[in-house]
Amino acid sequence: AKQMHRGAAQYFSAEMGVDARERFKLLKGLRASFEARRLFVVYQPQVELATRRVVGAEALLRWRNEEGKFVPPDQFIPLAEQSGLIISIGEFVLRTACYQVKHLRDLGFMDFRMAVNISLAQFRHPQFIPTLQAAMRDTEVPGEALELEITESMAMEDVEMVLHVLADIRATGATVAIDDFGTGFSSLSQLRQLQVERLKIDRAFVQEAQTSAAGSSIAAMVVNLGRTLGMQVLAEGIETEEQAAQLVALGCHEGQGYLFARPMPGELLEGWMAQQAGG
Ligand code: C2E
Ligand code: CA
Ligand code: CA
Ligand code: CA
Repeated sequence: AKQMHRGAAQYFSAEMGVDARERFKLLKGLRASFEARRLFVVYQPQVELATRRVVGAEALLRWRNEEGKFVPPDQFIPLAEQSGLIISIGEFVLRTACYQVKHLRDLGFMDFRMAVNISLAQFRHPQFIPTLQAAMRDTEVPGEALELEITESMAMEDVEMVLHVLADIRATGATVAIDDFGTGFSSLSQLRQLQVERLKIDRAFVQEAQTSAAGSSIAAMVVNLGRTLGMQVLAEGIETEEQAAQLVALGCHEGQGYLFARPMPGELLEGWMAQQAGG
């Protein structure tokens, strides 16, 4: 019952069940909102855990629909991926994030690294590298100020292809982080092959590290794995001082989470950065 028609109707498949119609409506709304420029990007700071110094931010997409309600990315990103809309939305996020970096650099924040989430469909698209290069050129943002986040499961999808694209990314000077690390099934040798700069530990581990002895040894293992492979380790979803302290003790380099800051619009990020820098 897969793929009955071409075009839009292909999203109605058996496994989508009764809410296929709902999803189709959601996709229509998303497309309309994107065209009407109602999608926007917010930024969540990332800090060096030991010092709390700001090292960068992650760009996160937001959609406020026609009724003014926020639709969570976990709901609409998969739809955008399935429909191919993620290619243009992803480019929008990348460019918007680059302009934000440019702006911060103009204000004197030169050591700022912007992380942008990249979907598999974008990553394997033949125009991905040219798009990346164009965004960097147009905004005068050097590669070193950009980090691309790809999920662990995505990195393991097609290792051959991934290695090729990673080499092209490296040539631009941008760095790469493996997102949601610990939720996939990558082997040590696969991870080593990728040679990415950073591992982002999924927030599930950060939370579990506190609730049980097993959870805490798993968190320790994941941090150690990254360190052993010579990668920087960033823990996401840090909400409490206890979690931050525990991760510092484990040797985790960087962190991101509500404890430090929530995702915020670019206009607020500037002020927030200035405030942090001032002590
Ligand atoms: P992610 O890449 O793992 O992003 C981190 C998510 O954790 C964000 O959710 C962020 O708001 C949330 N978060 C940050 N700190 C905390 C915390 O202390 N506690 C808790 N409970 N949550 C925290 P968000 O913004 O809802 O995004 C969800 C997912 O949607 C992202 O997960 C990412 O997979 C996807 N996404 C968001 N923006 C984009 C985008 O521009 N492109 C692509 N391809 N995916 C995106
Ligand atoms: Ca991410
Ligand atoms: Ca993540
Ligand atoms: Ca996630």
